[in-house]
Amino acid sequence: MKRKVLIASIVFSFCMLTACNLSQGIFDENPIPTKISDKDKDIKESDDSDLVVTSMPTEPIEPTEMSEITNILEPTGIIEPTETPEVTEIPKITEIIEPTVMHEVTEIPGPTEIPGITEILNPTEMVEPTEIPETTDMPKVTEIPTPEPTETTEVTGTPEPTVSPEPTFTEYITKEKLIWGDDWKYADYSKIHTDTPILYYSNSKNRKNIVVAVNAGHGTSGGGKVKTLCHPDGSSKVTGGSTAKGSTYATAVSSGTSFFDGTSEAAANLSIAIILKDMLLEDGYDVLMIRESADVQLDNIARTVYSNQYADCHIALHYDSTETDKGFFYIGVPNVSSYRAMEPVASHWKQHNALGEALLAGVREAGIKICGNGNIPLDLTQTSYSTIPSIDVEIGDRKSDHSEAKQRKVAEGLLAGINLFFFGESEE
Ligand SMILES: [Zn+2]
Repeated sequence: MKRKVLIASIVFSFCMLTACNLSQGIFDENPIPTKISDKDKDIKESDDSDLVVTSMPTEPIEPTEMSEITNILEPTGIIEPTETPEVTEIPKITEIIEPTVMHEVTEIPGPTEIPGITEILNPTEMVEPTEIPETTDMPKVTEIPTPEPTETTEVTGTPEPTVSPEPTFTEYITKEKLIWGDDWKYADYSKIHTDTPILYYSNSKNRKNIVVAVNAGHGTSGGGKVKTLCHPDGSSKVTGGSTAKGSTYATAVSSGTSFFDGTSEAAANLSIAIILKDMLLEDGYDVLMIRESADVQLDNIARTVYSNQYADCHIALHYDSTETDKGFFYIGVPNVSSYRAMEPVASHWKQHNALGEALLAGVREAGIKICGNGNIPLDLTQTSYSTIPSIDVEIGDRKSDHSEAKQRKVAEGLLAGINLFFFGESEE
């Protein structure tokens, strides 16, 4: 037994000694030099990073696997989850934007036309341009694969100004907001010109490059309290009318009359103006719309000055205050020598009367009842400041039919008269 014990203790001691050396070689950062093999010496002289890889041939798989895992984890585990909440937030934004953008976009003729408008717009009236950035957000919305983008593309594709109740032709039209020019001729005589007319460009194949100013009479809140000079030279009115003969000042814009059914003349003037506008644009005329709502802050001189600046003719639309349904007539230039000698009347009164006669012929041809010979001369502010062919037409009076059907018939006659004026009987 003692011998077995002795042998066992010798074996045990040998094992312990070996294990101790092994542990020093593996775990000690500074292994005993005598225990390092020649192979280990070569490794020791090499770079640390090489040492890690080559000294532990069974270990390298684990580090490379680790790095692969961390590479995968970083994008999927950290970035993507934070992006996903953003995506879910965007549908909320589209729900908010769409109702407001729907209206804003419909006021803009078309996305491709926006740059042109912003270039022309008055810098102080950058309301529409600031709305445009909201529409530029829409591409972000369309990138999101939700059913709503198809609705937004429809919105951008349907331009229709809300100012016009009849958007029949407006999708083919570009509009331009004008800027008042203080240096324009007679601009100083105007007292009310804080609003601006809109210039519509026809996109008809037969565009004529002729601008017709369509002036829906009246419709300037407060215009009756302001006075403007009747004539630019300060002389007095040569005829009576809404302003008495001999007056040097007249109301800037009067309130107008009203129909027996309670409709205001201003409202009826506006409705036929819009009908005429659409007809003109479809026919290839550009249109300067002086007024497009119940109130425009432009007095009669401002309306005339704008027309002088931008239009080739100026047609003011009115109904008279009589109660006999006497028929259509235009207000010609009075045959008073002093008046016809006064500028700008002297240089343009024949054009005014010629336009009046052409419109009269067109309306007569359309079967509209005419009052007398269709010409009642009056000294009007409009005529007194016009430097382009300019006329005031009285479509009817307080008793006259002002239904849409009747107004459309009158407008067709006016369009025929405008064609007659610019192109003569032989054309169109
Ligand atoms: Zn009137």
